[in-house]
Amino acid sequence: MNPAALANNQDTVIALSTPPGKGAIHVIRVSGEDAIRVTNKVFKGKDLEAQKGHTAHFGTIRDKDGAIVDEVLVTLFKGPHSYTGENTVEISCHGSDYIVQRIIKVFSEEGIRYAKAGEFTKRAFLNGKFDLAQAEAVADLIASDSQASHSAAMNQMRGGFSHEIKELREKLIHFASMIELELDFSEEDVEFADRTDLKNLIYALQRLIRRLTESFALGNVIKNGVPTVIAGKPNAGKSTLLNALLNEEKAIVSDIAGTTRDFIEDEIIIGGISFRFIDTAGLRQTEDKVEAIGVERSYQKMKEASLIFYLFDSKTANYEEVKEEVLHLEELGTPYILIANKIDLIEGGKLPTEFDEFKEELITISAEQKDIDALRERALHLVKADDFRTGNTVVTNARHFESLSETDKALEEVLNGLDLGISGDLLALDIRTALHHLGEITGEVTTDDLLENIFSKFCIGK
Ligand code: GDP
Repeated sequence: MNPAALANNQDTVIALSTPPGKGAIHVIRVSGEDAIRVTNKVFKGKDLEAQKGHTAHFGTIRDKDGAIVDEVLVTLFKGPHSYTGENTVEISCHGSDYIVQRIIKVFSEEGIRYAKAGEFTKRAFLNGKFDLAQAEAVADLIASDSQASHSAAMNQMRGGFSHEIKELREKLIHFASMIELELDFSEEDVEFADRTDLKNLIYALQRLIRRLTESFALGNVIKNGVPTVIAGKPNAGKSTLLNALLNEEKAIVSDIAGTTRDFIEDEIIIGGISFRFIDTAGLRQTEDKVEAIGVERSYQKMKEASLIFYLFDSKTANYEEVKEEVLHLEELGTPYILIANKIDLIEGGKLPTEFDEFKEELITISAEQKDIDALRERALHLVKADDFRTGNTVVTNARHFESLSETDKALEEVLNGLDLGISGDLLALDIRTALHHLGEITGEVTTDDLLENIFSKFCIGK
């Protein structure tokens, strides 16, 4: 028996791993000690138990009356060399829900249980195939819908900050044990743990942790997109701008069948980051152009958003008016981009000099001529996408952010303790608290509830 499976006392489970419905093929996954033995019982073809791992075999699945359920291709993985670390069989059958049901019934009659949500990935974690942060990244990877969310998840799944955290955590464990050792020799007044070295280690940890916690703002943007509102007086060119943005990105956003997401009105990917445009319904219906600053409803939307594209008409707007609108925007507190649209109507493409006052905040575009690169650049700059583009690790998971913040607090306590010269037992206690929170991230410290909470959010079959 696979020792890891034994250690975790895992039975054998089965689930459909592809989305249900009609398709070319479905893949059913079976994992656990008995996966290969039981498949072999219901499979007619080669003797699967005599085959090597990482091999594929064609044959039929038969029910207990010997009737053919389907012609299938089975792929064998022998533990620990599989995703879960256990014996695993992947059965590719014809893409019919009826066939899938029948195959699963055949297996359940052999005592194989239907898997819970995320159970395969949970087993992979429990069998040490990867740490908890990597397991969570698997779910993020499946949910990824933009270049940025894909790379952040991929980076984390392949180790991300786990290695750095583990290394520093081990050093900290060493210090904790040294200090605890001192306690055994308390009468002799010895110091095994060099306090200066300990301080330096804590500084290094804090630098890493703060870099990671600071990246969370961007991480959140990467994962959830940037709720953005397009605002401005009637005829400023809001719907023209929306269309210009949508036209450019249409191929990516909505041409892939099944990717339409009803709850988002319009979504545009700029530089790999998803900008979600809220409340664009009014912009779509050209006869109903009442969305102007000052209208209560649009105020509320602008307040809730993370970013506002505020347009005015370069040709007709005067400085006083724009100034007043900017004051309103400042009051709202939401980051905004002030956009002088229809710059094509201004000879020389330059606004009157008094507009220079807005300096950096102001950009000029022509929505109609699709001259909007300046807007794209500014939007990306505002969400600090540069950090992402330079390949820095970004924390996208709220749970990791929480644990990192708690670790930081505990480390601060250790530093305070060191400054105050507190006793070794109290110091060790604070270090253990920091270790606890650090361990929560990668899963050295877990509870059943935590695991349940994380893996229940996965889909069945993953
Ligand atoms: P909204 O009320 O803010 O949604 O404004 P629209 O997008 O409907 O635009 C109002 C009018 O301005 C339309 O006739 C557009 O064709 C025109 N318009 C919008 N953007 C530009 C631009 O960049 N240049 C020019 N010349 N006209 C524009």
